[in-house]
Amino acid sequence: MGITDLLLLGQGSDLASERGVSCPGELPAPSDPDLRERARRARATLGDQVFVLGHHYQRDEVIEFADVTGDSFKLARDAAARPDAPYIVFCGVHFMAESADILTSPSQRVILPDLAAGCSMADMANYEQVAACWAVLDELGIGQSTIPVTYMNSSAAIKAFTGEHGGTVCTSSNAHTTLTWAFSQGERVLFLPDQHLGRNTAVLQMGLTLGDCVVWNPWKPRGGLTDSQIKNAKMILWRGHCSVHARFSLDSINDVRSRIRDVQVIVHPECQHEVALNADIIGSTEQIIKTVSNSPAGSKWAIGTELNLVKRLAQQHQDKQIVFLDKSVCYCSTMNRIDLPHLVWSLESLVEGRVVNEIKVAERTAHFARVALDRMLSLI
Ligand code: SF4
Repeated sequence: MGITDLLLLGQGSDLASERGVSCPGELPAPSDPDLRERARRARATLGDQVFVLGHHYQRDEVIEFADVTGDSFKLARDAAARPDAPYIVFCGVHFMAESADILTSPSQRVILPDLAAGCSMADMANYEQVAACWAVLDELGIGQSTIPVTYMNSSAAIKAFTGEHGGTVCTSSNAHTTLTWAFSQGERVLFLPDQHLGRNTAVLQMGLTLGDCVVWNPWKPRGGLTDSQIKNAKMILWRGHCSVHARFSLDSINDVRSRIRDVQVIVHPECQHEVALNADIIGSTEQIIKTVSNSPAGSKWAIGTELNLVKRLAQQHQDKQIVFLDKSVCYCSTMNRIDLPHLVWSLESLVEGRVVNEIKVAERTAHFARVALDRMLSLI
């Protein structure tokens, strides 16, 4: 059960080999002045047949045509709440479309407008690597007392692994609740794939120490750890990270504080520990939006999350001073793969009766991933 479990219907079976070649010769030119009109026309023709989801990190040109916006978990639930829509067009990245497929009915078909829209963090933990780690824990006699918890930003195969081994899924909003449950079930947690979310939640919210955490490096024998380090750890953190959020640094916080008097720094928990430690507020994407939106006019914010969202917030709240935390950090390149030409292509294909770039999770994987997701939902 690994990446090969994913059946990309009509597109072959290997996601990596399909990236970048999902619409050969059919993509409208980005310079086409009628693109917005074409998108509007296709949407109108499809009516309630299609439900378009837009992640907060998507480009404005895509968000304009989304029926709903949100973080990955909210969008998967939004999709599940629309069983009448036969087609779900997911403007986000691959693992999000998988979650939507898992949580929607078998008759609904989920479309990712560009198959190259993956997530580097999700790719940092594959099934074989996690199974090899688990085999070491079993050999040391601690598999039974370890609870695997994976962040939403992971493949369906990893979610299924946690479901099958008594664990669950968490989001950046409910990581504290989920880890509290996990520690009531076992003595330690194997946290996948984002080491920073795991460490920040354990140390800053749950009172664990940095010494309680070890980092499992999947590219080293036995994770690069000694047997006693593994046995004594409370949190075994997978060596994964977000290639956008992990780039914010303490220097960027110090720099913005020196430039903008009374600025408040708000960052996502995927940021490095020293960044989280020195920020004023740590919050999930939804929490960042709420906090900044509800702040009084004249507030000053430096935000450490994806650039598309920060620019949109600055545009929407011109009565506040909103800046991006670090000028050298750029957009999430895979989120940005979904652009208006890809959206138009996927919608116009549906109008012609063709389903392109369908994301379908194999039945067994979907079953155990749903077990993990249901466990999480029962904790909320
Ligand atoms: S922002 Fe980070 S976690 Fe989100 S899709 Fe991009 S690489 Fe993945």
